[in-house]
Amino acid sequence: MAKANALELLQKEISGMAELNVPMRERTTMRTGGNADILIAPVDREDLAKVVKFLAEREIGYFVLGGGSGIIVRDGGIRGAVIALKESFDSIEAVDDEAGGTMMVRAEAGVMLGALVKWAASSGISGFESLAGIPGTLGGALYKNSGGWGESIGQRVEQLEIMDSNAEIHTLLKRDFSFGYRTSNLPTGTIILSASFAGKRTKPDEVMDVTEEWLDKRMMTQPFEAASVGMVFKNPEVGLSAGELIDRCGLKGIRVGDAEVSCDHANYITNIGEATASQLIALIGMVQERVYVKHKVRLSLKVGLVGSSMGERLRIRK
Ligand SMILES: Cc1cc2nc3c(=O)[nH]c(=O)nc-3n(C[C@H](O)[C@H](O)[C@H](O)COP(=O)(O)OP(=O)(O)OC[C@H]3O[C@@H](n4cnc5c(N)ncnc54)[C@H](O)[C@@H]3O)c2cc1C
Repeated sequence: MAKANALELLQKEISGMAELNVPMRERTTMRTGGNADILIAPVDREDLAKVVKFLAEREIGYFVLGGGSGIIVRDGGIRGAVIALKESFDSIEAVDDEAGGTMMVRAEAGVMLGALVKWAASSGISGFESLAGIPGTLGGALYKNSGGWGESIGQRVEQLEIMDSNAEIHTLLKRDFSFGYRTSNLPTGTIILSASFAGKRTKPDEVMDVTEEWLDKRMMTQPFEAASVGMVFKNPEVGLSAGELIDRCGLKGIRVGDAEVSCDHANYITNIGEATASQLIALIGMVQERVYVKHKVRLSLKVGLVGSSMGERLRIRK
């Protein structure tokens, strides 16, 4: 069966939303990129397993989408399926230790990070404050080990529940996974379903104050209004930060089409209008080259580049 027909069949078989030819610009904070052949939002684990099995049997690839705040989708879009969890996988629960004091928080991967931080603060549970202001979902934050200023989400994870590319569910304990600087060692195709964290009960006011301090810190140092993916490059292990290296090359404000190196923070590339992914990627390459020529430092990407360049697309009838 042709892949295009298979996707139409999949659309009929699952309970959750399944839409063909979905513009990824509407699903990403950079607001650019071509269409995904199909975007699927399974309603529960059973529905998700059905999707993963269906795709595996037909050798159709899939990409797991969180809030789309850490990726640039290329102009040719995404061949195969995009699986979105934020529509349904959004529960949060707290389980107190019988001795009191310590407790576990278990949250599903589709929960928005902001909602988790807010929930923890209003419940008087500390441990999530430093994540305040990071957009996107818990799943995306875990996959990228998001954070800042020496803190990252991976430091607090006790347990993960994942689905593999054969639709089997596994519980991973701390010894089974590891996190690095904006990376995790989870194999490609892994779908994070939920994570459990050690939390500590304390006074809601205290948690709220610390949360607000972190939020202010992010808001004051990073431009949040423009369409972006946050910082584009990882900071080198030693020496100046990526932003400082770029700034010292005098690159703030340079443009390719509507892609611009932010005048507020040199490690932000923003879409100031109708930037294509090709323009954004060309500007990224230009920045890397200029930084290398001046400082002999190779900047590596923090943002994920996803999908295909312009080219052949599956023909799917609407
Ligand atoms: C204004 C702004 C500020 C930002 N500030 C910060 C910051 O301070 N610190 C920081 O670290 N980042 C920051 N970011 C980047 C981004 O918000 C984070 O990396 C975020 O955690 C990505 O989450 P997401 O849900 O949007 O992931 P997406 O962009 O949707 O996906 C990112 C990656 O995670 C994978 N993924 C998503 N969900 C799952 C899942 N359930 N299972 C398996 N894989 C999954 C995707 O396949 C993809 O490879 C910022 C971005 C913006 C736009």
